[in-house]
Amino acid sequence: MQEIHHYIDGTESKGTSGRFADIYNPATGEVQAKVALATAAELDAAVEKAAAAQVGWAATNPQRRARVMMKFAALINENMDELAELVSREHGKTLPDARGDVQRGLEVVEVCMGAPNMLKGEYMNDGGPGIDLYSMRQPLGVVAGITPFNFPAMIPLWKMAPALASGNAMILKPSERCPSTSMKLAELLKEAGLPDGVLQVVNGDKEVVDAILDNETVQAVGFVGSTPIAQYIYGRAATNGKRAQCFGGAKNHMIIMPDADMDKAADALVGAGYGAAGERCMAISVAVPVGDKTADALIERLVPRIEALKVGPYTAGDDVDFGPVITQQAKDRINGLVSSGVEQGANLVIDGRDFSLQGYEDGFFVGPSLFDNVTPDMDIYKEEIFGPVLSQVRTQSYDEALDLIMKNNYGNGTSIFTADGDTARDFANKVNVGMVGINFPIPVPLSYFTFGGWKKSAFGDLNQYGPDAFRFYTKTKTVTARWFSGIKEGGEFAFKAMD
Ligand code: NAD
Repeated sequence: MQEIHHYIDGTESKGTSGRFADIYNPATGEVQAKVALATAAELDAAVEKAAAAQVGWAATNPQRRARVMMKFAALINENMDELAELVSREHGKTLPDARGDVQRGLEVVEVCMGAPNMLKGEYMNDGGPGIDLYSMRQPLGVVAGITPFNFPAMIPLWKMAPALASGNAMILKPSERCPSTSMKLAELLKEAGLPDGVLQVVNGDKEVVDAILDNETVQAVGFVGSTPIAQYIYGRAATNGKRAQCFGGAKNHMIIMPDADMDKAADALVGAGYGAAGERCMAISVAVPVGDKTADALIERLVPRIEALKVGPYTAGDDVDFGPVITQQAKDRINGLVSSGVEQGANLVIDGRDFSLQGYEDGFFVGPSLFDNVTPDMDIYKEEIFGPVLSQVRTQSYDEALDLIMKNNYGNGTSIFTADGDTARDFANKVNVGMVGINFPIPVPLSYFTFGGWKKSAFGDLNQYGPDAFRFYTKTKTVTARWFSGIKEGGEFAFKAMD
């Protein structure tokens, strides 16, 4: 059985804990590999080595660091097929979707080729008589990235590229369900010229996460995962004096106005609701048509599209629309939530619970489910299902639809389908959600903007990637300088405004 260990000081390094987690093939249900789970002592040793390596890396001029990013981007492109295969093998998503996972991470690496431009400080000549002020952006030191299972390439790349380009060393703790892509990315970074020790991949579970949060050398933690863990990590990191940005779960709504193109809205909902088996933090899980006529028209279009979806293993090729979910527990939880929806009075229009695929009976496959007449008090509305389940909540007006979204605990992404620019503008202005799509179902911003939700979807002040990432991974130092001619008159004792 394949064993995956850690990537320390530029090479795969055997773990010493003797503890392992199973990595499943989600399509067959078989254990296909084991990943070592590090101890706190192993984490502390990796951090110490990273801190030593960071000194030279921070002193490497930003343009040279950017060249490592250029080479890294080229290597990701060259190894695209292998990376996508690694993603699909452990996660189960289709190969085209896995390529998208790598691609959206690669785009952040591409922005980091321009890191020197983002690292420039500010300068004020003659801020006072003979006084110049300037600010610098300096790396934090050793930072950590803790990532979820659902984007095994994209999210580690969102973390590592800006952190490293800014001159930090990084401890990356990928999901124990899908660690292989991170190990491969670490190898590619070495090949691209990253000095040994600057990126350490330490595999593990809660034990290593807690060790990261308590390690005094680690200066900042970038986390992506479920909301309860995001909130926990944010609290413990902040208590320990670390900078933290922790991105959590989601419940993303799409409003469908009566004037929307219903076929396009239905196509968008099927892709955004069921793509990657619904295991996306930007998946649309709630359709909110305005008016019963709109709701009926939507159901009429959704049903044949959903019934035509093909569920299967990624090895079946491009013909498959989505694959299995990540574990048997995830499958049981999703099916349990679907049952709760029935018990609580929602109308289950399409039932995916009994889905089975010949030859893959033990795989973690869940068929697509569609609910109508869902109300906000039901568990299927309140919980992030993270599976191929779309719920329709009927509303009678735009204001009622907007209010529903505003009152939801989560605020990652949302979307409106309409032909009316005025309504779309009003929605984008008013809604308390971080990323908004207009006739666009999954509005993940391009890499030179930033990504981040509101409300319980994110804890911390700054978004991921784009300009915010460089703010997060650097600290500002501001220098006020004057030369001897300016202090001829002697010392000053009052703290005063500049003349
Ligand atoms: P998760 O919270 O279970 O795990 C995320 C990371 O935290 C993993 O590395 C895991 O090892 C670690 N972890 C898990 N339990 C822990 C604990 N008790 N203490 C310390 N560390 C712990 O999330 P997941 O199931 O891997 O990912 C799915 C979740 O991530 C969904 O809720 C999804 O919405 C969310 N997500 C959010 C975004 C975003 O940008 N907002 C992006 C992708 C995924």
